[in-house]
Formats: sequence, C-alpha cells, structure tokens
Amino acid sequence: MAYDRNNVFARILRGEIPCNKVYEDTHVLAFRDINPQAPTHILVVPKGEYVSLDDFSANASDAEMASLVRALGHVARAEGVVESGYRILANTGAAAHQEVPHFHIHLFGGRDLGGMLPRR
Ligand code: AMP
Repeated sequence: MAYDRNNVFARILRGEIPCNKVYEDTHVLAFRDINPQAPTHILVVPKGEYVSLDDFSANASDAEMASLVRALGHVARAEGVVESGYRILANTGAAAHQEVPHFHIHLFGGRDLGGMLPRR
C-alpha cells in the first residue's frame, strides 16, 4: 500500500492538527489517543512515512527502530505504568482493523487490561 500523506497522523506530524503530546525525539512522536480505551492510552508514532509495521520493519533504519523501542519504554516509565503492567499493540492491516495508515503502537495501562484477545 502506498503511503497516504493526508492521513491524520501525517497531519499531526506536520502540525496541521493538534495533539496531546507526551514525548518527542528526532524519530518519534508520542501523544494521547483521542478516544482512550484505558486510563493510559498513548500512540507512539515514527516520524517517517511508514504505512504499517510491515513497512516499518522492512524499510526503517536501525536508528528509527531503536528510537521507537526506547520511546515506548520511556513513555511507559513516565506514565508510571511499569509496576502495575501495561500492553503495547500494533494493528496491522485489515484483519487487525488498522484505521490509520501510518504505523503506530498503542500503549495501554492504568487498569487491568484483561486477556490478550476476546475469545470467539
Ligand atoms: P488503529 O485502529 O490501530 O489504526 O488505531 C487508530 C487510533 O487512532 C484509534 O485509537 C483512534 O482513537 C486514534 N486517533 C484517531 N485520530 C486521532 C487524533 N486526531 N488524535 C489522537 N488519536 C487519534
């Protein structure tokens, strides 16, 4: 899938739409989800134009990958959810219901998050 430069996270990264920023470095922006599903629900987003984890894992630089993982740890510590526990999740493609076609990792915490997936 080609990258859509008008997706909502691209617009946030360009400063065209506001966000509730919690962390930023050279390669990463992290901000609060607009529709939180847990007391802590943060989106950790690479600044580069990657559609999904599939795209990012194939094409991002080592520095971008390292920054993303370090940002996840930093945000979790800053939010105070390490001791209680937290979850990261990256919806990738249609079966996972990925809504925004710019790679992002959700970080959830602040309550018991239940089982990994609903049983069907
Ligand atoms: P996904 O289904 O993994 O693509 O999740 C997209 C997430 O982006 C959802 O949890 C939305 O609530 C969130 N979202 C959409 N627009 C915004 C926005 N303008 N600011 C913050 N979060 C957003």
